[in-house]
Amino acid sequence: MAAQSKIPQATAKRLPLYYRFLNNLHLQGKTRVSSKELSDAVKVDSATIRRDFSYFGALGKKGYGYNVEYLLGFFRKTLDQDETTNVALIGVGNLGTAFLHYNFTKNNNTKIQMAFDADTNKVGSKIGGVPIYHIDQLENRLTDVQAAILTVPGAQAQPITERLVQSGITGILNFTPARITVPEEIRVHHIDLAVELQSLIYFMKHYPTDE
Ligand code: ATP
Repeated sequence: MAAQSKIPQATAKRLPLYYRFLNNLHLQGKTRVSSKELSDAVKVDSATIRRDFSYFGALGKKGYGYNVEYLLGFFRKTLDQDETTNVALIGVGNLGTAFLHYNFTKNNNTKIQMAFDADTNKVGSKIGGVPIYHIDQLENRLTDVQAAILTVPGAQAQPITERLVQSGITGILNFTPARITVPEEIRVHHIDLAVELQSLIYFMKHYPTDE
């Protein structure tokens, strides 16, 4: 644990990316990978990859590359892949429904355990095998759940966030357009799809990649 807490945040953010690619290599029976191969696949320059990997104690050998098995073992430990993180989804609209159908467990041990909605027509059913409970039951049902995906209308984001924090959730993936306020020990990642799309289009127009 002490060694892991020394990994810079920017490096830590790239871990899932590396993990997914290495896991695929492993499944294909590959035992080693060069930083060039990795770089092409995950679109991170090889100098950054070498620096990142040096934090893991993985020093690539010239003409050999990195040992896939060693790196995977390290990533599994670091990303807690051996321990399932339970996730709840709040708001089973279009986006929420898509997430329930999406198989997050393909590459890691993340699993949406339960979903909540205010619409009584949705409550009591299952989507993608995930049960949908009434939002009134949030506090009763959220035991042993560490993270939440927020796909409710923006106006509901803050009040629901407060209930999630009260229930012991420590991470929130916020897909609503609303900025949410949380105590500092709670981690929030905000993904506003409309903003991401606008930003992509802005960059396409003003910063074409071939320049
Ligand atoms: P999206 O595609 O963004 O999910 P949508 O048009 O399908 O949008 P929204 O109006 O954004 O639906 O609502 C998303 C879901 O959140 C709906 O299923 C709605 O019933 C649910 N919802 C609304 N208010 C609450 C609330 N207070 N608690 C829980 N769920 C709520």
